[in-house]
Amino acid sequence: MTRLGIYVQVPFCQTKCTYCNFHTGVVATSRFAPYAEAVCREIREHKERYAEKGVLLPEGLLDAEVDTVYMGGGTPSLLDSSHLREILGAIRESFAAEFTEVTLEADPETVESEKAAAWVRAGINRVSFGLQSFVDKELIAAGRMHRRADIYRAVPILRAAGIRIISFDLIAGLPYQTKESWRQSLEELAALEPEHVSIYLLEIDEGSRLGKELLWGGGRYSAGAVPNEDEMAEFYETAQEFLRGAGYHHYEISNWAKPGFESKHNLKYWRRAPYLGFGAGAHSFSGTERWANAHDAAGYVSAIQSGRLPVEQQEKLTAESALEEELFLGLRQLDGIDLSQIEREYGVALAGRFDPLASAGLVEREGSLVRLAPGRLSISNEVFVELMR
Ligand code: SF4
Repeated sequence: MTRLGIYVQVPFCQTKCTYCNFHTGVVATSRFAPYAEAVCREIREHKERYAEKGVLLPEGLLDAEVDTVYMGGGTPSLLDSSHLREILGAIRESFAAEFTEVTLEADPETVESEKAAAWVRAGINRVSFGLQSFVDKELIAAGRMHRRADIYRAVPILRAAGIRIISFDLIAGLPYQTKESWRQSLEELAALEPEHVSIYLLEIDEGSRLGKELLWGGGRYSAGAVPNEDEMAEFYETAQEFLRGAGYHHYEISNWAKPGFESKHNLKYWRRAPYLGFGAGAHSFSGTERWANAHDAAGYVSAIQSGRLPVEQQEKLTAESALEEELFLGLRQLDGIDLSQIEREYGVALAGRFDPLASAGLVEREGSLVRLAPGRLSISNEVFVELMR
């Protein structure tokens, strides 16, 4: 039986972090309930709405079993736990469901004992924490709501409530970060023994306030205190070495796990397995087609209330774009890709495309297996650009 992942997008936050380039907003809490209701309705009515929009679910997906759910955002932990329970209930009613991993993204300051206990009762067994740093000066500069003390308050609450898997996110490249403060964040993180760790490099693009300042040479949002690219690459490499020493398995460019705790849901994205997304801006992939809902939360709610499917982009993948995804997403995983298998599947010869990358030491080859060279992961984007030329 095909296994299906479900992603639920909750696009609300308490403030806007300076580096954030997501489509999220700070709204009155009175908008949470209608939003959660709209998500439940979209889940229950998805087949009819897809049919209207001409989205065709392949045979195998019609009776697929949902084994992973990921509630991301935004800050889904802001929603009342009854809303999260209702959303999970709508999934159980509308699909064959045998959940093995149900993740909630949470910010430390939103965690309370009663809420955490209600999350566990609703079926949530994994919490992904946006910590970003253990250093208050960096958290303040980034516009985060939580402080280091909130992390130490929240983690025992989650453990006591029975959350089995905790994942921590850190960002390399926040304003004021130094070699020493980065090391401090890594050491404090490891001492709390999360099962999973994600490390992202600060993204500099026009989608965030800080990114704009950096691109235009401005100084607001502590832009002058942002580490340079070489420093960020060094932070990433320090993390690679540190986490290996702390017993974490590096399985995807940005992700590490204690053995057996790799994210089952996120692996679906990198392995091009099917998933359906619900909520404003949520993306879906059927195996042959990708589509995404409109980002605007208010527009999303009114579309659902008036019986429309809020799909904004829809793309049937050509063999060429499917192949590009196969290479790009496959190489993000440290196990790499099996070139012969992909060549057979797509009827193309690819070995020649990798020769210059192998000669430059950017990828490693072992028989028909190709993977990014572990020492060059911090420049993986450059490798992908070369490969897609
Ligand atoms: S909490 Fe996350 S989604 Fe919300 S503003 Fe900050 S970075 Fe963006």
